[in-house]
Amino acid sequence: KAITPEYIWSDGAVVRWEDARIHVWTDALCGINVFEGLRGYWRPSDERHHVLHLDRHLHRLLGSLKAARIPCPYAADDFAKGIGELLAALGYREHVYLRPTVLLEKGKYSTDPGEVRTRAFIPIFPVPATSARAGVHCTVSSWRRPSDLAMPPRIKAGANYYNLRLARLEAADRGADEPILLGEDGKVAETGGASVFLVRDGRIITPPVTASILESITRDTVLTLARADLGYETLERPVDRTELYAADEVFLTGTLCEIAPVLSVDGIPVRGRAGPVTAALQETYQKICAGDGGHQDWLTPGPTG
Ligand code: PMP
Repeated sequence: KAITPEYIWSDGAVVRWEDARIHVWTDALCGINVFEGLRGYWRPSDERHHVLHLDRHLHRLLGSLKAARIPCPYAADDFAKGIGELLAALGYREHVYLRPTVLLEKGKYSTDPGEVRTRAFIPIFPVPATSARAGVHCTVSSWRRPSDLAMPPRIKAGANYYNLRLARLEAADRGADEPILLGEDGKVAETGGASVFLVRDGRIITPPVTASILESITRDTVLTLARADLGYETLERPVDRTELYAADEVFLTGTLCEIAPVLSVDGIPVRGRAGPVTAALQETYQKICAGDGGHQDWLTPGPTG
């Protein structure tokens, strides 16, 4: 059962959940909004949440706002402060998912702060310790990821999820867990909420950031871990659909799914469980998030619980 949090951060203050409101007659119906998705890892040893890559997510949020041309009165520090205050108010003692969101309530064809009304809020929800760690079944979608000529796939804009919703519903109809979308050029792009990696002959391969994909923070983190911590060769290059079928391992990465092995693509088995490279990356990533794998500067401690 979904939990309704007691509090939410709304336009600069922590308020009761039911007091964060917006009228139904709003330009927000046009879907002009950007958002972020972060994980806060609860650490029993110091009774705090440790938010992974807080600075990078807030930096991406400001970049999304700039590209979407939404004026916003809040700086990264305001969002960071809001997150700290809200974590303290909620008092969760488990892992959390944070969703800072900025939307245009009024002024869809303007960038003038005098005409535009921007609203910002941050919900925080408890989430299970891990999601898809055991593996997922994928299907290559008939929907294409739009190119940068039509919509900006690199930013985290709500409107982009219209496309991903269609792909996810189609995948569910086919009995798969996740769609893998190709770009308009027919090369592999990403899933409905994660980046795609493959392993071929010991090399780790992922599509480049210009492949109609979100500029993912986990993707970048996993490339760094693979290269610097585990010593693998990594390649960012266009990926063909049939390489997914031929690969030794396929895995997905993202804030929410962390590192998830792909068990099959279009019903073609990849392997029954995480392959050795995927498993090594999973272990390294989990240790870092739990606080005993180095890179502690990637985690920002929240208030004590
Ligand atoms: N692609 C899409 C479409 C996503 O929604 C997400 C989740 N934010 C990702 C990739 C992974 O991005 P990140 O690693 O920054 O969470």
